Amino acid sequence: MIETRTRESLRSALAEVRAGSKRLALVPTMGYLHEGHLSLVDRARDGADVVALSIFVNPLQFGPGEDLRAYPRDLERDRALAGERGVDLLFAPEEAEMYPEGTPQVTVDPGPLAERLCGAYRPGHFRGVLTVVARLFGLFQPDVAVFGRKDFQQGVLIARMARDLEMPVEVVVAPTTRAVDGLAMSSRNAYLSEEERGEATRLSRALFRSRDRARSGERDAAELLRGVREDLAGSPHLRMQYAEIVHPETLEPVEVAEEGSVLALAAFCGETRLIDNVVLS
Ligand code: AMP
Repeated sequence: MIETRTRESLRSALAEVRAGSKRLALVPTMGYLHEGHLSLVDRARDGADVVALSIFVNPLQFGPGEDLRAYPRDLERDRALAGERGVDLLFAPEEAEMYPEGTPQVTVDPGPLAERLCGAYRPGHFRGVLTVVARLFGLFQPDVAVFGRKDFQQGVLIARMARDLEMPVEVVVAPTTRAVDGLAMSSRNAYLSEEERGEATRLSRALFRSRDRARSGERDAAELLRGVREDLAGSPHLRMQYAEIVHPETLEPVEVAEEGSVLALAAFCGETRLIDNVVLS
């Protein structure tokens, strides 16, 4: 595995690994890698000759009072995991390397899709995400970029950005990897106390129960969401931020759940904000 920390060395490494017009896949991450990230590396490998993984905790996507400084970091461990999983090129820039001119003046306006779901509670978050992803696309010029379904709205917005701005990259959104008890893997799970970790399982259980109810014929979105609230109620640690059933592309709330509608939620477990979603089918 080649490791680069600067844009300059990235450029020469890319020229080397792409020689002979090899197909390049990029997996952007904020590090503290877990099996969810590594499953994206596997997916990236499927459609490409060269797999690159970036690690950058992007300040632009954190709001004031969010966990930018506390965000877990362990480059040594990440390097080992990425290498074992067959990543060809690791890019882990410092902030001054990623944004050499300071905070970018020109940023990507994520438009109305960013006002829904998480965007309603995290103003500026998706502008920060799209701006760094656009920058990574500029640096790597990947043929394909792989993102995780766990961050449902993020995947929708990145795919939309690539379409609306005619970016020559195929955006792939790969399935959510879960712990054996169902909790969606996340770097932020590291914040959870043992007791909170136990309670956090309720989130995916509520989503799965709702999906089962939809499968058995319950189509009324309000009723399905009532069930989710009921499943999460009474926990000393969980505080739901939102639960919505939406159209998978417009993110508009639906009244009647249809094949492909997405049930997405965000909740605080103690101080930790967790998100998860399922497709209703
Ligand atoms: P992050 O490091 O949290 O910014 O995530 C980097 C990428 O990994 C994003 O595309 C996430 O959607 C994806 N990802 C994070 N957790 C999971 C998971 N449990 N399963 C699949 N993909 C994930």
